[in-house]
Amino acid sequence: MSVFDTVLNFIFPPTCPACKESVENRGDWCQDCLMEHINFQRLTGDKILEQLVIGGCYAMAKYSGPAGELIRNLKYKKKMESEAGIHTFLNKALERPSVKKVILRCDVAVPIPLHEEKKKKRGFNQVELIFRDVLLKQGIAWSDCLLRMANTKPQFGLKAEERKENLKSAFSIRDIKSVKGKDVLLVDDIMTTGTTIAKCASILMQNGANSVTALVFASDREK
Ligand SMILES: [Zn+2]
Repeated sequence: MSVFDTVLNFIFPPTCPACKESVENRGDWCQDCLMEHINFQRLTGDKILEQLVIGGCYAMAKYSGPAGELIRNLKYKKKMESEAGIHTFLNKALERPSVKKVILRCDVAVPIPLHEEKKKKRGFNQVELIFRDVLLKQGIAWSDCLLRMANTKPQFGLKAEERKENLKSAFSIRDIKSVKGKDVLLVDDIMTTGTTIAKCASILMQNGANSVTALVFASDREK
């Protein structure tokens, strides 16, 4: 540990993101909280998503819980230290056989893209920060093959028709060979309506993906 980290840990002792008890290293969770908050589940009930995302849509955690809070802190408050806690959470989740079975059968992970302007403004694509290194370590390739064309308004709060209109020709694809014949893991930070995931999955399938499985870090959808 560097001198800086030692001083930092003395002034701001690292705490578990859930129970706020002290932990040894920044980014650690206590074991009990990890057990409680890893909530890997298949999101079903949306017919269009079920048809397009043949590998299924999955979430790792509840958005309303402490794992979701890490995402909110990263995305909206730019608290970059949240990344370590997110990685600890994902690595632990990936030790579970039920998670491995779904995720490790995929060849390549493709993030839902941010528009370049938005990425510039935020300074990063949170989806990449959340998943990239963790999945590479598991032997899953990473391909930024999807591009967001129009600077779409946030989907949140729009009616179904407006959402469709908003997403029309919003995405395109490059480097098709990175997904052709592959089992693709489409990753995003959160899932609200699923419209974006459906649109991106259909582009991947049209371009020869063998299957698409969707994984979001957090969601409050019940099914
Ligand atoms: Zn805890």
